[in-house]
Amino acid sequence: MKTKQQYIDSLRRLDLEVYLFGERVTGIVDHPMVMPSMNAVAATYELAQGDVMTATSHLTGRRINRFTHIHQSADDLVNKSRMERLMGSYTGTCFQRCAGMDALNTLSVVTYDIDRARGTRYHERFLDFLRYVQDEDLVCDAAMTDAKGDRRLRPAQQTDPDMYTRVVGQDADGIVVRGAKLHQTGALNSHEIIVVPTRAMREEDKDYAISFAIPSDTKGVLYIYGRQPSDTRKLEGHTYDVGNLFYGGHECLVVFDDVFVPWERVFMCREYEFASELVEKFASYHRQSYACKSGMGDVLIGATQTIAEYNGIADMPHVRDKIVEMNHLNETIYCCSLACAYEGAPEPSGTYYVNSLMANIAKLHVTRVPYELARMAHEIAGGAVVTVPSEKDLRNPRVGRYVEKYMKGVAEVPAEARMRMLRLIEGLTMGMGAACYLPESMHGAGSPQAQRIMIARQVNLGPKQKAARRLCGIE
Ligand code: SF4
Ligand code: FE
Repeated sequence: MKTKQQYIDSLRRLDLEVYLFGERVTGIVDHPMVMPSMNAVAATYELAQGDVMTATSHLTGRRINRFTHIHQSADDLVNKSRMERLMGSYTGTCFQRCAGMDALNTLSVVTYDIDRARGTRYHERFLDFLRYVQDEDLVCDAAMTDAKGDRRLRPAQQTDPDMYTRVVGQDADGIVVRGAKLHQTGALNSHEIIVVPTRAMREEDKDYAISFAIPSDTKGVLYIYGRQPSDTRKLEGHTYDVGNLFYGGHECLVVFDDVFVPWERVFMCREYEFASELVEKFASYHRQSYACKSGMGDVLIGATQTIAEYNGIADMPHVRDKIVEMNHLNETIYCCSLACAYEGAPEPSGTYYVNSLMANIAKLHVTRVPYELARMAHEIAGGAVVTVPSEKDLRNPRVGRYVEKYMKGVAEVPAEARMRMLRLIEGLTMGMGAACYLPESMHGAGSPQAQRIMIARQVNLGPKQKAARRLCGIE
């Protein structure tokens, strides 16, 4: 396994074409806009020890980072949920490495299924790629969400045919692909990009039914950095006004401008009837992964309890009740993620797959709970969460002493501690951290309606109706 430093050095060797604020930027590893997100991924290397964060490779028998592991048991799935909570509470942000793990596991199931049905050789190719990822301990960016254009139209019906990523050419050596993937979490911190389709496909859409992996610095791949709330605070010098001092997340718009992919890296090419299986499997694995948000919830609850103490209101009954409610909601996310893992079962390839219904229930809770926690945190923190002066004002020789005097809560806690905690709450619920705590909880791994559709499809109403009929005597 790589050390944290080896991971950082490996990123420096990548030659990515990145655009930020309208300019091409180089040296992104040390760029203040990107560094916090890189630190969060680096933490997945820093903490890689023990049964939660590492596993034994079923291919080589070697100890590997769990983020590159293929689940061999329900216990593996359970440890995955534990790892995500641990990482969420350690970094207080999105640590960006789960979707790659989820794509690897999905492909280990689906390439096997395609080969069985079609006599193709995708699984073997996939295992070669997997071995490379495990041996080199790589970060993979799972690229699913296409631009989608007019949402009423299928891929092949769009006015602009590039609204979904597609094959535009092929020869004996490989395929050429064009399109874009949006909201690419941690793209700049990744060694490889794994592309998968974003929806079910019909025969007329078959050029869009593709999956492949390429090194992130492949020619023709462009990265356009996505902004986050208050992101330029990172450029103001090192102040606690950023909230989370160490970690953050990022997303990019990733463009594939006629990119060549060699056949040995192609895992699906026009087998349109398998696109829906691939999407559903990936979605369920990734919905389990949102145990990460119970880890972020740990940080927000910790911050809320602390600010209540700093404000002198921690013993008020309604505040105690709200802290209990925050914990109750936050643990619900984790319970659901664990439940879908414990109920996991093997697929024909041998890879363990989560209980899909429960994974969807887990993620549907995630679309609500963080918003509810943010509301309670705001109530307890008070209005200062949006009015507190900057760190630079606290350091100013003329007004600093007034900031110190009037930003104080209870006498024993310095104003600066209270200001730092308010900034952390602000960051998690409205600032940079909110990008991954709130809207990412809503839309990451699919929007709530996608979970409702899956729940409707998987819940079996027949036995429930039968039980009701029996108990009131209807034959
Ligand atoms: Fe992992 Fe959560 Fe970030 Fe998705 S949002 S990559 S599950 S930390
Ligand atoms: Fe995600």
